[in-house]
Order: sequence, then structure tokens, then C-alpha cells
Amino acid sequence: MTHTIHAKYALTHVLNAHGTFTPLGVSRSSPSVQRAVAAALGEFFIIDELQVAVSERVARITGAEAATVTHCTAAAITLAIAATMTGDSETGIAQLPDTTGMPNRVIIPAGHVVNYGHSILTAIRLAGAVPVIAGTESACTVDDISHALVAEHTACLLLVSSRLTHGTPLDLGQAVAAAHAYGLPAIIDGAAQDLRLDELLATGADLVLISAQKYLAAPTAGLIIGRRDLVRACRAQERGIGRGMKATKESIAGVLAALEEREQLDVAAWRAEQDRKVRWFVEQANAIAGLTATAQEDPTGLPFLRVCLHVEPSHRQETASALSQALRQGSPSIWVVDRDAAAGNLILELVPLTDTEIAIILSRLAVLSEA
Ligand SMILES: *Cc1c(COP(=O)(O)O)cnc(C)c1O
Repeated sequence: MTHTIHAKYALTHVLNAHGTFTPLGVSRSSPSVQRAVAAALGEFFIIDELQVAVSERVARITGAEAATVTHCTAAAITLAIAATMTGDSETGIAQLPDTTGMPNRVIIPAGHVVNYGHSILTAIRLAGAVPVIAGTESACTVDDISHALVAEHTACLLLVSSRLTHGTPLDLGQAVAAAHAYGLPAIIDGAAQDLRLDELLATGADLVLISAQKYLAAPTAGLIIGRRDLVRACRAQERGIGRGMKATKESIAGVLAALEEREQLDVAAWRAEQDRKVRWFVEQANAIAGLTATAQEDPTGLPFLRVCLHVEPSHRQETASALSQALRQGSPSIWVVDRDAAAGNLILELVPLTDTEIAIILSRLAVLSEA
């Protein structure tokens, strides 16, 4: 099927070792998720019923009060902020992005101002809100947050749980408690953290936002999970700024199928399988001249390892960055994370890859290193 699409439209065949990367199509859905999406496309539904089905399932799995599906997490950030400004006031919803007369300050720690394709500040401003940055790039304390929260017209606190944050890690539970001390809601953007959803909800956050297309491997969709009144106010934004951010029937059907699979997932077995692939890769890569491979834990605590490939400076195969480029230019086009290439390091995430694909990457590395 994939090969048919690639051949028909002359598209590049990609091996994605870059992780849940939007420009490459993020993740691979299982056959049962694919079937659910295809089946939904040919049917009509009462969309509210699909949304209720997701809400009930998420509530059962996580213990959260409610959930709703939106187009993606970028949309979910804008809608969640809008919900904290308007509640379910129809006039407020219709008035946005004009926030005259509403609380509109959104507090965000400086180290949480991430860029996942655009700056998260853009997602805040799209609701009509004004971002207020607390602390500095290198550190933001709970006191810095409290200091920012106290000013008038504050709508909420926005926190991010991601590998993309910088500076001294902030205790999310304490930050959430600081918002609650001022009677304000706290939202956590945990887009790629669905495998740690329980921990994020345990911080006491009022809303947690998850990208269904990342490790859940559903179609592109944002899950907004948490307080029933706020979830309802997020959904109500569809009659205002949220119209262009709505979930489609096929994405909701795909999310339902993916949630069902997640409920049945044997996490220990899944984790052991990811470990096996990484350890095999590391062993094979270490046999290639000029490369040193190690297994690396996820810095946010996601339950799988990645491969760190160090390209030795003395080796003929110039630099890590040149190796990354050469991998991309070959066929299939192999994508790895080269954010840290200046230090000689490439990172590979093997989660969606089969053994056959991993073997292709290893043999390409061997050929390039001996070139
Ligand atoms: C991926 C990501 C987003 C954006 O999610 P989409 O579902 O692609 O809109 C937002 N925040 C973080 C931290 C992300 O990793």
C-alpha cells in the first residue's frame, strides 16, 4: 500500500529514525487503526457521540474527568487557553480573539518557550492572549511563577513537558500548585508524552494536552484531557476561533482504535522489544570503523532507549553532520536527529522501525564509513 502511494506519485521512500517528526509523517499506525480510519471515511456519525466515546474511554483509562479531540496539540494549546479566558460564555467565545474585558495574561516559564515548528508563543497569541514569560532561559523558580501569576487579568499557567524545554527542570506539581493557590488553572503541553500521561495528570494540572499521532500512533489529533468544565469550554470554541481546529470523524475513529490498542498493550513486553532493537543496533554499529554507539535513556523519562552514534573526529568520514546528510541523500532516505552533530553525535530512534529497516540503516552506515 505504502509502496503504491510512493510509486504512483514519485515520492521519496523514507526510513524515519528521527522520532515522532511532523515533516516525515510522525508515526506509523497499526493495521487496526488504519482499518478504523478507512471505515469511518465512508460513514456518517453524530460527531458529539464520537467525542463522548473518546471522553468516556480516556476517563476510564486515566481517571481524568473528561477529554475531547481537536485537530492537533498546537490547536489544543490555543483552545485550552481560550477556554480559560471565556469559560462557556457564548458572547466571550464569539468575541475571541478580541479579549477586551477578559483575563488574558498567560504565564509560561522562559525555559518552556519551545519551538515545535512554530514558537508556542504563537499558539498562545492565536487565542488573543498575551504571553508573560516567567524566570530566565536558564532557570525559572516556583517563586518566579507566583510573582507573574499575582498580577490582574491572569488567565492561566502554561507548562511544557518535553525534551525541547531548556534550563533547570521545573517541578511541574509545585508549579501547578502555585497556580491553584491563586485560583487559576494550569495547562500542561505534554504533546509527545502520552506514555507518561499518568504522571502528568498526577501533577494536578487542570488540562493535559497530548498529540495522538505521536507515540499513540493514531491519525493527527490533539487530546485535551482533564477538568470537565474546561474540556466543555474547549469544545465550545468550535463556535468561535476553534472552527478551523476541529477534529475530523476519521481522526476521532482512529484515536478510539489507538486507545483500545494502548489499553491492551503489554508495556513490559513492548519495552523489552524496544530494548532488544536498540541493543542489537548498538552492538552492530560498534563493529563499524569510526563509530561508537551507546544506548541512551530519554531525558523526560519516556520508557524506551535511543541510539547515540558518536562519529570519531579522526575518522575519514568527515563529520557527523556530513554523515547525516549522506544518509538523507541515499535511497531510501534515512533521517536521524543531528541537532547535536557539532559535538559529533547523531541520535536514532528505532521505535517505528522493523528489523529489516534497521539492517538497511546499519549496512548504509557501514558503506558510508568505509567510503
Ligand atoms: C509535537 C509538539 C507540539 C505540537 O503538536 P501537534 O500535534 O503537531 O500540533 C506541541 N508541543 C510539543 C512539546 C510538541 O512536541
